[in-house]
Amino acid sequence: PSLSLLPPPPSPAGPRHSLTAPAPARAWTRGGAAAAPPPPGGGGGAPHPRRSPPRPPPPPTPPPRPPPPPPPPADETSDAAGSPSDAHPDGRHRPAESEQSVSETSAAAPVGALTGAVRLRVAPSPTGDPHVGTAYMSLFNLAFVRQHGGRFVLRIEDTDRTRFRADSEQQVFDTLSWLGLTWDEGPDIGGPFEPYRQSERLDTYRPYVERLLESGHAYHCWCTPGRLAQMREAQARDKKPTGYDRMCHGLTEQERAELPGFSETPVVRMFVPDDVPLVFDDLIRGTVSAPRPDDQVIFKADGFPTYHLAVVVDDHEMGITHVVRGEEWISSTPKHILLYQWLGLEPPKFAHMPLLRNPDSSKISKRKNPAARLTWFREQGYLPEALVNFLALLAYPPAKGPEGEDVEVFTFEDFSARFSWSDVNPVGPIFDLKKLDWLNGMHIRALELDDFTSRLLPYLEACLLYTSDAADERSSVDLGGRRIIKKKKSNRHRDKRSTK
Ligand code: GLU
Repeated sequence: PSLSLLPPPPSPAGPRHSLTAPAPARAWTRGGAAAAPPPPGGGGGAPHPRRSPPRPPPPPTPPPRPPPPPPPPADETSDAAGSPSDAHPDGRHRPAESEQSVSETSAAAPVGALTGAVRLRVAPSPTGDPHVGTAYMSLFNLAFVRQHGGRFVLRIEDTDRTRFRADSEQQVFDTLSWLGLTWDEGPDIGGPFEPYRQSERLDTYRPYVERLLESGHAYHCWCTPGRLAQMREAQARDKKPTGYDRMCHGLTEQERAELPGFSETPVVRMFVPDDVPLVFDDLIRGTVSAPRPDDQVIFKADGFPTYHLAVVVDDHEMGITHVVRGEEWISSTPKHILLYQWLGLEPPKFAHMPLLRNPDSSKISKRKNPAARLTWFREQGYLPEALVNFLALLAYPPAKGPEGEDVEVFTFEDFSARFSWSDVNPVGPIFDLKKLDWLNGMHIRALELDDFTSRLLPYLEACLLYTSDAADERSSVDLGGRRIIKKKKSNRHRDKRSTK
């Protein structure tokens, strides 16, 4: 049957799931605090002037590396307090060829912009079972990519070594492949900008850090975790704003070593100026205002960049034209825009997707909700196309039928063809599994019998493996002309599960 002729669903997705509401431009604030006012003259426009040269005509194929950048304008290097020599007193983190490698590997405009092709990415961190949000982000990225004939990149952001889980990356590959959300470049298939794992790109980041240190936009910080904890306690006690107090800024290593709470392995922090642009354009939300960041760590004592530096460098180096990610990253975007500005790079466009929420409005977490685990849907027997359909409807209006009626059952191809950023609903959608059950039924009933049976078989086989009480007896079940054999129970102590 034609999916678009199927009847409407039994229940709406909930009061917050107002899929047809227009997407207003709105200020974003953390914890309900008042939005910071836009800088004078900054409302609505780009937060800072674009620094790219005029774009050359597109080359026939994407170059392996973008062309060199223009040197940053003089005012970029002089606006931070402290001289460049104050900012890098000991020359740590400086690879011998630092200047050269930056100029060889960076460009003002993303390569996608140069070639005219859109390039989007999903960048999961391998910290356990993939979160359902990874599929949700991939879906919206991919809908736009396929509509524009662009490229979809899968990048593994594994710089947080404390939370790293070795099996997680394979689970990302498996679950996204199962959903048909396939990528054009990635760690498993390679591509023109490999490696696509951040832990394999450490040499890429260092020259950027050097440049930031030399221009005075970044500085070393030797504070121990203990000293930082004391600082935070004191700030909380005195009801002062929290954030790094810049104890190390402007000091040489020797000068700092004489003060308490000194660690021999420093981190590198951004020197965030008072006039940091806090307003930026978002494809979904319009003008967004984010809170003022403090002096963010960009390079850790373990030699790994933090997310903030790595994401900017890699999005630039990989020619990403549109950064589509969850709204929890809105507060980080001013930091990223500063880094683009300091490095003389053109920022990509940004789209911050609404977070998936539990009915009590809390963020869906793997700890509280089994359905936050992407593997759970497969285990439960949901069809991948039903889950894709469900994830699309969470933040996007249904299609319209010939009579103007809502059509909620659709395929990825239908969704991609009608996709537009301006129709994404910025309000956090409620994750309503009843809707998914209904969609799953609709998609199951639309399957051809053969397709249905071949998808069902693995589940039946798994069930029979567990439930055959008569261990020695071989019996069989007829299923649409196919025959499956009950397997001998391999472990008598296994849990029994119902076949019903
Ligand atoms: N690694 C980040 C995450 O797991 C990516 C955020 C981004 O897309 O910029 O959410």
